[in-house]
Amino acid sequence: MTDVSRRLTATARITVMTGAGVSAASGVPTFRGADGLWKQFRPESLATVEAFARDPKLVWEWYDWRRQKIAACEPNAAHHVLAKWSRRFHHFNLITQNVDGLHERAGTANTIRLHGSIWEVFCWDGCPTSPARWRDETVPQTKIPPACPHCGGLIRPGVVWFGESLDPQVVELATAASDCDIFFTIGTSAVVYPAAGFVDLARRSGAFTVEINPEATPVSSAVDLVLRGSAEALLHQIEEHLV
Ligand code: NAD
Ligand code: ZN
Repeated sequence: MTDVSRRLTATARITVMTGAGVSAASGVPTFRGADGLWKQFRPESLATVEAFARDPKLVWEWYDWRRQKIAACEPNAAHHVLAKWSRRFHHFNLITQNVDGLHERAGTANTIRLHGSIWEVFCWDGCPTSPARWRDETVPQTKIPPACPHCGGLIRPGVVWFGESLDPQVVELATAASDCDIFFTIGTSAVVYPAAGFVDLARRSGAFTVEINPEATPVSSAVDLVLRGSAEALLHQIEEHLV
């Protein structure tokens, strides 16, 4: 712990990658926990282009339920410590797989969002008068499925679905951020690529790599230091040891 805190200096290039585990203490359901199931549907069968094309109402009902749950959640100690670091350290980058917006709500600016945001939408048909994407924080939706204000057609959540590729510009930013001095992977099962690959990239760039997770993951054996426990407790402890 003190070793990690000692490495967090004014000149260190610090990069943190987070997953759903960081929001668990806020009460945001993960996909893999029992709470991840909604009306017996698996996220893998709802968060796809095919599911939306088949039944946009069903998919939007699920997103509306998730948006309501998230809107009722508050950032936890993990989000707050990371927000503090983003202001305190000059070379700080946060890469997140989360779509809940809790890092932003805690005050972290310039978050690199690999999987988009549940608070953004875009036109399903890509109508020419609509922006590429825009914020929509209507909770609950007044009409499901909601309509595109520009063409009257469908809008879809601004998240990356299973089988879709990530925004190349976002991947570029995350790749650049992986070249750092200390890299944390926190609250992610690290099985989804390319997210899992960033730990590898960081190691090859010479970074000291740290995993924070209550459970073992595929990257546990590859990192320099494993801190077993919750993000909210361990980040708080690291923060307390900072000089
Ligand atoms: P995941 O694959 O990132 O796994 C969650 C990890 O968090 C597990 O390894 C678990 O051991 C760990 N964990 C649990 N509680 C923790 C705690 N208190 N502190 C630290 N670690 C903890 O997440 P998933 O739920 O399987 O979701 C996969 C993808 O689905 C995400 O990458 C994301 O795109 C999307 N998703 C996002 C959210 C969100 O925005 N909060 C929630 C669910 C799913
Ligand atoms: Zn439209």
